[in-house]
Amino acid sequence: DVIRSEEIQQARMKLPILVEEQSIMEIINENHIVVIAGETGSGKTTQVPQFLYEAGYALKKQIAVTEPRRVAAVSMSQRVAEEMNLSHREVSYLIRFEGNATENTKIKFMTDGVLLKELQTDFLLSKYSVVILDEAHERSVYTDILIGLLSRIVPLRLKKGDPLKLIIMSATLRLADFISNERLFKVPPRVINVESRQFPVIVHFNKRTPDNYLKEALNKTRKIHSKLPEGGILIFVTGQREVNWLVQKLRKVFPFNKKHAVKENGAKSTKSRENEGEETVDDEDDDEGVKKTHRKRRKVKIVPQIDLDDYSIPGDLEFDSEEDGESDQLSSDDEQDAAESEDESRVTTPPLWTLPLYSMLSIHKQRRVFQPPPPGCRLCIVSTNVAETSLTIPDVKYVVDTGKCKVKLYDKVTGVTGHVVHWCSKAAANQRAGRAGRTQPGHCYRLYSSAVFNDTFAEHSPPEIQQKPVDDLYLQMKCMNIDKVVNFPFPTAPDLMQLKTAEQRLKVLGALDEKGNVTLLGRAISKFPVLPRYGKMLALSHQQDLLPYTVCLVAALSVQEVLLEVPIVSSGSIEDAKSARQRWTATRQRWAGQGQSLMLGDNMVLLKAVGAAEFAAARGKLERFCEENGLRHKAVVEIRKLRMQLTSCIKDNVPDVDDITVDPEMPPPTDLQAKLLRQILLAGMGDQVAKKIMPDELKEGEEKAKFKYAYRANNMEEPVFLHQGCVLRKTLPEYVVFQEIYETNKMYMRGVAAIE
Ligand code: ADP
Ligand code: MG
Repeated sequence: DVIRSEEIQQARMKLPILVEEQSIMEIINENHIVVIAGETGSGKTTQVPQFLYEAGYALKKQIAVTEPRRVAAVSMSQRVAEEMNLSHREVSYLIRFEGNATENTKIKFMTDGVLLKELQTDFLLSKYSVVILDEAHERSVYTDILIGLLSRIVPLRLKKGDPLKLIIMSATLRLADFISNERLFKVPPRVINVESRQFPVIVHFNKRTPDNYLKEALNKTRKIHSKLPEGGILIFVTGQREVNWLVQKLRKVFPFNKKHAVKENGAKSTKSRENEGEETVDDEDDDEGVKKTHRKRRKVKIVPQIDLDDYSIPGDLEFDSEEDGESDQLSSDDEQDAAESEDESRVTTPPLWTLPLYSMLSIHKQRRVFQPPPPGCRLCIVSTNVAETSLTIPDVKYVVDTGKCKVKLYDKVTGVTGHVVHWCSKAAANQRAGRAGRTQPGHCYRLYSSAVFNDTFAEHSPPEIQQKPVDDLYLQMKCMNIDKVVNFPFPTAPDLMQLKTAEQRLKVLGALDEKGNVTLLGRAISKFPVLPRYGKMLALSHQQDLLPYTVCLVAALSVQEVLLEVPIVSSGSIEDAKSARQRWTATRQRWAGQGQSLMLGDNMVLLKAVGAAEFAAARGKLERFCEENGLRHKAVVEIRKLRMQLTSCIKDNVPDVDDITVDPEMPPPTDLQAKLLRQILLAGMGDQVAKKIMPDELKEGEEKAKFKYAYRANNMEEPVFLHQGCVLRKTLPEYVVFQEIYETNKMYMRGVAAIE
């Protein structure tokens, strides 16, 4: 009863998984736990939910599909809805900040964290007839825990006479961690290997490994585009800034020029493109932006000799080399090469349609990568590792692999975090190479030597659970009455030290008692979809007039990178990054205010920034406000959603609070409120305080000037610093409380407030 369009049907027929539908369904019907392994692009994510739907699994209950990444949950739900000709009311998604699920939802894509939260209120997951854990090879913490929990839930549901199917889907990596783990599954689950239609990919190693991999990526891409036959290019770099840097460079060397496209393909085909063309002209998604570009386009028609569609970006971004390791590579010295080739390539090569892809990018812009490039153009996508496994980009023929990935490190004892750029694993490099052979034979250019690959690359990257604090997980498990977390059937267990420090921190917070049992406060904390220390701040803010502020602050602290340090993309603006940055710093200092307000420090800046952004949003000017004041637009939107979610969570869980609402434009806190907020901050982050290092404490030979902004944090040997952007640099309070310490070239505190 699913009616698919002809076009979709044909695309599906090309997937080898389709001919196996019957045998896959037979195996699922006869087994309660099944592993489906197959290379990326073989059709697991888009097809298996449809098989289940057509076999009747969504008649009485829902089909759940978990994804480790929000991008994938959203885009896969859209793709499957489209393939099945159903609306998002039936094929829906649910992620931390939002969702479109309804009571008619049949197939629900969600992030693994969201399903784990659902488990807290419905341990048997009774809404679902099937749970599909997708991308299990990524080894995200939540998917790992879900595997452990579901290994126990499936037999329980069976005993109740209401069976639940568990399907674990994975690339063909490291399957043994799941299937030959007797603590997890006494009887190894049935494995279905899906054949994949992989074309050969020729791997080319560099003879030598260059120091500057970004510059090398630029060069290689230039060569591919100028010399090699048509076919999309996919470039892997490590982070958002690198993506944007490279996109700008490539757009400069190979500008997208509409005239070109017209010449090659005639007026008719370009016309259809024109409606979408504005997306690349500037970087605005809102109505305002669209209107503006409409105006621009009309101008183009009147004055055709001015090429406003040339979206190369004037000027280069400057990066502060003091605080970001990435920047060395980014401050480019290749201006000259780029300019040289500009002349040669502009005349001889067709335009390149260059698009960025990373998880912080708005969903709407992410979707552009699935659309075909304008006629006569070659598609080029510069991506972080989101394109490694979870998203399949059509028609990639060339992969350029820097071999690098960015890893968030954290010190298991001190909790200090930092980002380092590392070689990725052999498994990841092979995944990346595989992206070139989905639709035709391809080539992968590895920007490192085969010796480096063989000798330095690890086989696999370690699972995430061994690389981050497990406090929230520990508390959630305790709340599910898992007493001995140490004995939990993890696919790969976290380090004992991680579990111990998590337990210790939860005891300090008061979420666990001395014996390690969950307290009432701990239960309240665990209800909130934020870290336990923020949950405690919410649970403590009983006073109704304070709650909206705590909610706003916790929401802002829980979303990454709200306040930018340098412009992400100077979209069309000629103003250089440095002056933007100075302006932002001045604004932030003004937002911080004086007295009690200033003592809240970076937190006051966050509160005011969110308030001002909402004020602008109500007047339809959010996008511009964010750009002018250095806020990340997507972050502001996420904060708003999280505020709503936290508010309804409070209504449901905190007894005498029932009439709080979210007032996006709430007035700034009074002095008294600011003071109370500071106490609440301290209650959540009491273990994260630091004391100013006084001149007389300096050892011989230590320069005073270097320690002007230095503090000593509890149990850390090295000093920690107030960052250049911190508003408390002016007052240098003796004691401060901070959100976290991160390491670049020095240790810096983030989210700093003064203590009395
Ligand atoms: P797997 O989960 O095995 O990696 P998918 O089910 O994600 O595979 O993808 C199967 C095929 O569907 C891919 O080859 C891809 O080309 C196509 N596809 C997936 N998402 C989209 C989309 N949004 N638009 C067009 N094609 C898509
Ligand atoms: Mg998939």
